[in-house]
Amino acid sequence: MGMRSTLPLPSWNIVLTQIIFYFILEDFVFYWGHRILHTKWLYKHVHSVHHEYATPFGLTSEYAHPAEILFLGFATIIGPAVTGPHLVTLWLWMTLRVLETVEAHCGYHFPWSPSNFFPLYGGSDFHDYHHRLLYTKSGNYSSTFTYMDWIFGTDIGYRKLKALKRATVEDNIEQKKH
Ligand SMILES: [Zn+2]
Ligand SMILES: [Zn+2]
Repeated sequence: MGMRSTLPLPSWNIVLTQIIFYFILEDFVFYWGHRILHTKWLYKHVHSVHHEYATPFGLTSEYAHPAEILFLGFATIIGPAVTGPHLVTLWLWMTLRVLETVEAHCGYHFPWSPSNFFPLYGGSDFHDYHHRLLYTKSGNYSSTFTYMDWIFGTDIGYRKLKALKRATVEDNIEQKKH
């Protein structure tokens, strides 16, 4: 009685389906919003605040111009806004989303992180590359996954660098053999 809620908790099936849907939708909307923020005027006046850190750490994930927080926050809330989840699902989603972005900015790829189980997950390696280069040449605009940048060709620089690093490692191994 009193303040006790009478709404039952949703089943794990519903919670998981909604959260997966939010991650995919967020990534899609974030990708385009983030690309818009990398146009000349918006970058100079808004998004450059977030890019003050070329080598980010966890807290810098939330460090941005207030207009950017409102603008990209839209990507986070659109999923719950269209599906009307249980409050517990909403809390879980917000928590996972913050943890995900903190991990992407923390500068480390942890081998024990649960995110390693997600297919096509970007993580800190992917987003670190985005912070290394300024303005329009950065690429890697997605928040969570890598496929949007792959489809729209905005990860070319990142993939080239990865290939170069792999080749260097293989070269070193070859040289040691001789
Ligand atoms: Zn950016
Ligand atoms: Zn960032």
